[in-house]
Amino acid sequence: MRGITILGATGSIGQNTVDLIARRPDDFTVEALTGGHNIDLLAEDARRLGARLAVTAHEDRYADLKAALSGTGIEVAAGQGALMEAAQRPADWVMSAIVGAAGLAPGLAALERGAALALANKETLVCAGPLVLETAARSGADLIPVDSEHSALYQALLGEDMTSVERVIITASGGAFRDWPLEKLAAATPEQASTHPNWAMGQRITVDSASMFNKALELIEAKEFFHLDPEIIEVVVHRESLVHALVGHIDGGILAHLGPADMRHAIGYALNWPARVDLPVERLNLAKIGQLTFEAPDPARYPALAIAQRVMRRGGLSGAAMNAAKEVALDAFLDRHIGFMQMAEVVTRVLDRIETDSGLIDAAFDLDNVLSMDQIARAYAWENVNSGVAAVT
Ligand code: NDP
Repeated sequence: MRGITILGATGSIGQNTVDLIARRPDDFTVEALTGGHNIDLLAEDARRLGARLAVTAHEDRYADLKAALSGTGIEVAAGQGALMEAAQRPADWVMSAIVGAAGLAPGLAALERGAALALANKETLVCAGPLVLETAARSGADLIPVDSEHSALYQALLGEDMTSVERVIITASGGAFRDWPLEKLAAATPEQASTHPNWAMGQRITVDSASMFNKALELIEAKEFFHLDPEIIEVVVHRESLVHALVGHIDGGILAHLGPADMRHAIGYALNWPARVDLPVERLNLAKIGQLTFEAPDPARYPALAIAQRVMRRGGLSGAAMNAAKEVALDAFLDRHIGFMQMAEVVTRVLDRIETDSGLIDAAFDLDNVLSMDQIARAYAWENVNSGVAAVT
């Protein structure tokens, strides 16, 4: 029996993980489940999976969770300290599926004690790549990517000599606005941005897919995870979301990874790694699919991609700054303080300022410095948002 903890169990990735675990009750025991506001779902899954501990990130929801699990014998806790405790409990395998920079510290805590960490939370490597990799190397923990593109790269690169890799190509669906006229994007609403042509995901990553900030984070994540030169990483728009990533070698050959647009493939791969097991996902019928299409991304439509290139070239703590500014810009967009295209403007202005007036950008990669950079960038981003950018009506 493998001990499992799911950080962010009530989210989209968390629920897909719960689905896989619940199908094999004889193979897994559940140490801890964490969630945020969705107390009912957290309690229901904790009961269903027989979790030892259930944690909500919000202290003011402790009483609700306690009441929902009364009489079950399941331990209940709340708040940031409790999230850390959940990560530190002795599970063999931990899913990191909290959204945003909030997932960094619990994920690191799991790595520090040597647990295998299935990494869905892309912000972890974007904010603190060197720290995360160094922590895993020190404790001997396995770090297994869950983002579909990175899982695809991981699988395509198995057994390959990295010196023969000359290109790494990550695919992007193009998001909700891929066919919108460019001039309409400024007026796009949060509701319109919260739909995805191919994937069912949490709202934040869905909006990030429309802006391609999601792809920007993935570029940085790929650079960190696979130690890649930024110049060899490419993005191609692939509307069908069936090819997740490709690896080009110096002999001109390209290896592609294909799979259905179902996160249970990448999650299941990470859950069973290094073995492969039968997973409850659709098998692709290539003849029925007929054709796969690829297009170059339009830089005017997706300014986030150039921002990612800038961050990868600058290095240091600029990834933490970019991510924090992006999280604030996304909140501001969802709250209708700024328009869709202004998210990239906010992030760019924050990076301009961080690069010129914060010596912190080249500070050592420790958690304190990463969190300080996160706070500074958030403050700069809010200043920017509040400095008179027109509200969207
Ligand atoms: P969701 O928004 O669906 O779920 C997020 C989870 O984190 C929920 O359990 C939520 O709790 C919890 N949570 C939210 N805020 C906090 C906080 N401040 N502290 C602790 N817990 C919190 O996100 P997704 O599942 O879509 O994404 C999770 C991560 O995986 C993200 O980093 C995303 O980029 C990445 N990812 C997601 C993919 C997908 O298909 N969804 C694909 C690849 C990567 P509650 O809902 O109870 O409030």
